[in-house]
Amino acid sequence: MLNRQGRPSTAGEAGTTEHPTFTGNKALAQIEPLIFEFGRTDTTGVDLDEPEAFTPRLGGMERKDAIGLPGLSEPETMRHYVRLSQMNYGIDTGLFPLGSCTMKHNARLNERMARLPGFSDVHPLQPVSTVKGALELMNELARYLVTLTNMTTVALSPKAGAHGELCGMMAIKAAIEARGEGKTRNVVLVPDSAHGTNPATAALIGFVVKPVPARDDGWVHVDDVKKLLGPDVAAIMLTNPNTCGLFENQVSEIAKAIHDAGAYFYCDGANFNAIVGKAKPGDLGVDAMHINLHKTFSTPHGGGGPGSGPVVLSARLAPYAPVPFVTVKDGELTLVEHEEDAAETPFGRMTAFHGQMGMYVRALSYMLSHGSDGMKQASEDAVLNANYIRASLSDLFSQPFGDKPCMHEVLFDDTWLKDTGVTTLDFAKAMIDEGYHPMTMYFPLVVHGAMLIEPTESESKVSLDLFIATLRDLAFAAKNGDTARFTGAPYHAPCRRLDETRAARNPVLKWTPPAPIAEAAE
Ligand SMILES: *Cc1c(COP(=O)(O)O)cnc(C)c1O
Repeated sequence: MLNRQGRPSTAGEAGTTEHPTFTGNKALAQIEPLIFEFGRTDTTGVDLDEPEAFTPRLGGMERKDAIGLPGLSEPETMRHYVRLSQMNYGIDTGLFPLGSCTMKHNARLNERMARLPGFSDVHPLQPVSTVKGALELMNELARYLVTLTNMTTVALSPKAGAHGELCGMMAIKAAIEARGEGKTRNVVLVPDSAHGTNPATAALIGFVVKPVPARDDGWVHVDDVKKLLGPDVAAIMLTNPNTCGLFENQVSEIAKAIHDAGAYFYCDGANFNAIVGKAKPGDLGVDAMHINLHKTFSTPHGGGGPGSGPVVLSARLAPYAPVPFVTVKDGELTLVEHEEDAAETPFGRMTAFHGQMGMYVRALSYMLSHGSDGMKQASEDAVLNANYIRASLSDLFSQPFGDKPCMHEVLFDDTWLKDTGVTTLDFAKAMIDEGYHPMTMYFPLVVHGAMLIEPTESESKVSLDLFIATLRDLAFAAKNGDTARFTGAPYHAPCRRLDETRAARNPVLKWTPPAPIAEAAE
């Protein structure tokens, strides 16, 4: 069977083929080839005049062959991209239960605000006198972030959580060097359950990473930390709430032990969504923490950004905050752009310009529209929703750290799938057939077959009930031996199971035209 591009249809791969169609499409579910397979190099959607005779100035470097770009008409181009977008799964199409990621609804209000020309059209090289409104917004956002965390200052410019980690750890490094201990304090403690970016960040700037072993209750214990402390330890990187969905119940003791040993407490604040308005990291002894604006304070994310990872700093680290930053001079807001213009001792600069203006606007719009009571309620609802899922599934699914309440995300392991022939991966694939994006799988690594579910505060009870009913139906099917529903899944997705190992080890990054049909037949 050939599809509308005269190519053997791949429709059989996507879902059941009880009633195959000529095109391979299934009503509004349209298959879509690559633009290179579909476009024609001999046509184009625009008519360009032949350039008048000119002498190339490329000294023999000019292209000899046709450029080979796919030509499509305007409607074909539009349909191609719209169809691709319809194959996507996003928070606008359904519940997105990824744990450690806070995929929540982002109100359109925040999008509207970010598109106001006074914010969206500012140029980073505009004279400061013409962008006072933007500076005021940054200053106001900084005030909110510092207040919500009870910290001294904030570096707004980092462009993602991982970039914020780098910023915070560079401030710690600068502080240690200023103490003359740059050569001797070179160890960073990172619990086994940490996000991979934590050890990567520490290693990137030359620290030696020492793991804090995982315990079977999911918490980091102050005794384990103390055993590792010494004059060589620069910092601990601790996530709180942690990636097991638990609030670190010894966090204050850990902070004290770290400080007593002359080290700094870096907190991975990616899970701030669970505690905004409830707990302030500054009160817990944190010296530096990144905030993923794109997780906690609006901004659609996933698929590569853009993100924004401001870093709040304690009084001990504030002098090392990088340029640029907003400050008040002669009663007016202005920017400190260069290290030599700063009153303190910035460690340098993280970005060419000032950071992600659009994310700042969305974040402040989120904060202002929620108010302080609303932000607190969002945290409470996020935790309530996760516990609702936990309680509704705990008779079927197994929890690795006992049947205790969680924060904003609930962690299950795969003990309950033992002897069913179904793995965590199979289970996740079957969720795709049910129209759900899978939860975070196999993370944290310390839990076997981990399934980490974060519903967020923005899901209604009705939508949670359907999600829970779906997971229960799947769980019964797995326990009752309907293995095929899982091991062959997804049956209904545009792509079936991919060879993920091969894709990672042997990625094909370039499209090569297929051999002409006549040749292939020989
Ligand atoms: C998301 C996340 C990060 C990294 O943040 P990015 O913005 O993706 O760079 C770090 N730690 C934890 C726990 C996270 O969830």
